[in-house]
Amino acid sequence: MSIRIGQGWDSHAFKEGVALKIGGVAIEHHEGLAGHSDGDVLLHAITDALLGAVAAGDIGTFFPPNDPRWKDADSAVFLNLAIEEIQNAGYRILNVDTTLVLTAPKISPIAIDIRERIADMLDLELNAVSVKAKTPEGLGLDHVAQAHAVVLIEKIEEPDHPKTMSAVIENQKHLEDVVKDLVSQVHGTQEETGVSVRRRTIKVPTFDTEDIT
Ligand SMILES: [Zn+2]
Repeated sequence: MSIRIGQGWDSHAFKEGVALKIGGVAIEHHEGLAGHSDGDVLLHAITDALLGAVAAGDIGTFFPPNDPRWKDADSAVFLNLAIEEIQNAGYRILNVDTTLVLTAPKISPIAIDIRERIADMLDLELNAVSVKAKTPEGLGLDHVAQAHAVVLIEKIEEPDHPKTMSAVIENQKHLEDVVKDLVSQVHGTQEETGVSVRRRTIKVPTFDTEDIT
């Protein structure tokens, strides 16, 4: 089994007159998070964690903040791209653990909603998505929301292929017949495919017959 880990972090300042969205969930609050996109600090951290797990860069690599196309963009777009990068690399997500650091609003009453939304977006079971929250004690960051995210991904195992073929070789003539037979099993008959079997292409490894199973 091949597993990899990814880590992401993000921060956004609170701003009056902006809708608050965290983890893809719209939250009733008197201010929201300023940003070029919708300012979803948690989805940005998860996106960076996913991209980091496959060493594909970070959110700014794909979505430069000065690009007008991403003005007020739904951060689910960023997350979906990171999910594609994971899939293209041949991996699947095992679990996500996150920590929000903010003074308000209180996250614990809505953590389940955020977890359900993220689990839905990442196609994970609820128990594979964790959303924790802390207040920024002593940091003097009461007007900032930060998010930390860690993800674990696993390589998707390829199905067994190609089939292993084996035969017992008794002499050179038999060897040629056996190779022709094996080639025709794979490609059809020699006449159909034009496959020719030449002696110099045949390599006979040294082995005990007991090795052939
Ligand atoms: Zn961000």
